[in-house]
Amino acid sequence: MPDRPAFDPADPLGIDELLGDDDLAVRATARRWAADRVLPYVADWYERGELPDPRGLARELGAMGALGMPLRGYGCAGASAVQYGLVCLELEAADSGIRSLVSVQGSLAMYAIHRYGSEEQRRAWLPGMASGGTIGCFALTEPDHGSDPSGMRTRAVRDGGDWVLTGRKMWITNGSIADVAVVWARTDEGVRGFLVPAATPGFTAHTIRHKGSLRASVTSELVLDGVRLPAGAALPEARGLRAPLSCLSHARYGIVWGALGAARTCFRAALEYAGTREQFGRPIGAFQLTQAKLADMAVELEKGLLLALHLGRRMDAGRLLPEQVSLGKLNNVREALDICRTARTVLGANGISWEYPVMRHMANLETVLTYEGTSEMHQLVLGKALTGLDAFRG
Ligand code: FAD
Repeated sequence: MPDRPAFDPADPLGIDELLGDDDLAVRATARRWAADRVLPYVADWYERGELPDPRGLARELGAMGALGMPLRGYGCAGASAVQYGLVCLELEAADSGIRSLVSVQGSLAMYAIHRYGSEEQRRAWLPGMASGGTIGCFALTEPDHGSDPSGMRTRAVRDGGDWVLTGRKMWITNGSIADVAVVWARTDEGVRGFLVPAATPGFTAHTIRHKGSLRASVTSELVLDGVRLPAGAALPEARGLRAPLSCLSHARYGIVWGALGAARTCFRAALEYAGTREQFGRPIGAFQLTQAKLADMAVELEKGLLLALHLGRRMDAGRLLPEQVSLGKLNNVREALDICRTARTVLGANGISWEYPVMRHMANLETVLTYEGTSEMHQLVLGKALTGLDAFRG
């Protein structure tokens, strides 16, 4: 009989054994970076509702290869989907805002250019974005059109050889720090994507304040007031809503992993607290009700990790379907939020304090549950795939 390893509370199912040495090395680098550059400061950033020096952070993330990580060429790391997922998890274990910066830059803005751009556009934008020297955002949502972007009002019309864009975009991550916005607009040829340099006259970005979630992240409203662009600003291969939706599917994959990072931090905070906090003369971790909570949290965390790894391996094999990403995002974000809420109860009153990370992660996951398709949208995607019946319109 081979020796069996002892039970490890940090890896209850032995999932690390399913990862290669390269995967573990990439994960260790991201974990170390988050521990040095984010964890000591993020509670303060969050309380102040700021992400100071996002450009500096982006450059460091670029140097680590985390921007456009699974993309090939143009300065991108060409890493596996599993490695990208592991990095998302480690970054979100620090804060969802940092993972959002990386997701929007790499999986939304860079992916859109890589997948739908011309060779000229790829060469012009991707190396700078991979290094973090150039920041991108992805503008699909509008004030009146979120879950149903087919009703979007932002319009692009041809004027001679140019395009002229008019409209508003809302809730755009990285919007007011971006050098280039990937803007989706209605045209006579259907929805198309445009690369809008932030310095273009008529383009303005306003930071959204008073957020109760994702406070260490820049979120903005974009206004396009007769923004004139050359013909070469349109993404040539992107026609129809399928294009932005495919970018979102790519980004959602990172969320499948990332949300578990937030959950892991909350689980560990609860486990530690349960071992030290005493009531009725015993550590609260000695009470069966607390142990039931911890056991259930560990079960869901481990199941979520296996699901993320399975989807990552399918992505690496070129076999991942959007419906499978929907299943992953629906489950992992929902369960991660539940883990954070349960952890909050274990910490009692301290659970609501920003001195501990739990409330911050819990509030962040409320955004993660909503963006990149709400949980209801993913239920509808799965419902349609299962039944063949489309319930999006009732
Ligand atoms: P709505 O679409 O108005 O939905 C409201 C509620 O109604 C939801 O619960 C929804 O599930 C439900 N609902 C809607 N239709 C149905 C239906 N048919 N059946 C059942 N229920 C339904 N967008 C970008 O384009 N780029 C970004 O970078 C970006 N970053 C974001 C950052 C933050 C912090 C936040 C909060 C949002 C961000 N978003 C971004 C926007 C996000 O993607 C949208 O908020 C999301 O798609 C939901 O749209 P909505 O808020 O308009 O909600």
